[in-house]
Amino acid sequence: MASVARDQRRRAVLSRLASVYAGATTALRYRNDFELLIAVILSAQCTDARVNLVTPALFRAYPNAAALARPEPKDVEPYIKTCGLYRSKAKNIVAASRKIAELGGRIPDTMEDLLELPGVGRKTANVVLAVAYERDAIAVDTHVFRVANRLRLVRAKTPEKAEHQLMKVVPRAQWSQAHHWLIHHGREICHARIPECPRCPLLDLCPSAKYFLRARAQRASRAPKAKVRRPPP
Ligand code: SF4
Repeated sequence: MASVARDQRRRAVLSRLASVYAGATTALRYRNDFELLIAVILSAQCTDARVNLVTPALFRAYPNAAALARPEPKDVEPYIKTCGLYRSKAKNIVAASRKIAELGGRIPDTMEDLLELPGVGRKTANVVLAVAYERDAIAVDTHVFRVANRLRLVRAKTPEKAEHQLMKVVPRAQWSQAHHWLIHHGREICHARIPECPRCPLLDLCPSAKYFLRARAQRASRAPKAKVRRPPP
């Protein structure tokens, strides 16, 4: 009986997310599969908006894998310096471009082959598979991991476990969209430190809401009371 209720609640969560975030898609700007891959690598621990600021100049200087395979990483660093972890990202995007250039410029289309590219983990590979190749895939980044756990769509300790549990809970046809719904919800409302439960459209369906609402009430009760000015006589 409990599992029937749990399944119904999960279905209701997915349907609410689908209606609130209908049409949600990646905020990264790219013109082809190569630019998508590089932008996703750069987006690790960086906002999409920041990545969108640096990629136009980067892709003007290095418009394809063959071009980005030629420089030394230190030559690429100035283009991506504001992205965070720029030294390792410069190394990774140059090394990945060298491998892609060896493959004739084609971005691999399997998880196994994508994982061979430097700087590419399961999340990046799943984004490329879903967006570039329109495959059914759920990329689990920090937002998806946090929100899916809070909404109890999954109970997972690692992103990879969350990915596999989400694949069981979310209908296959919605895998790619579910990734965008959860990311948008995490960015806009279900923030890592202080989620905005009072204005959350999933409040009535979220098992974690009571903990965060209690913490919010405790914070409010500890906040210094504003001084009440006496009205002028
Ligand atoms: S109710 Fe709160 S914890 Fe639950 S999904 Fe919404 S913002 Fe996140």
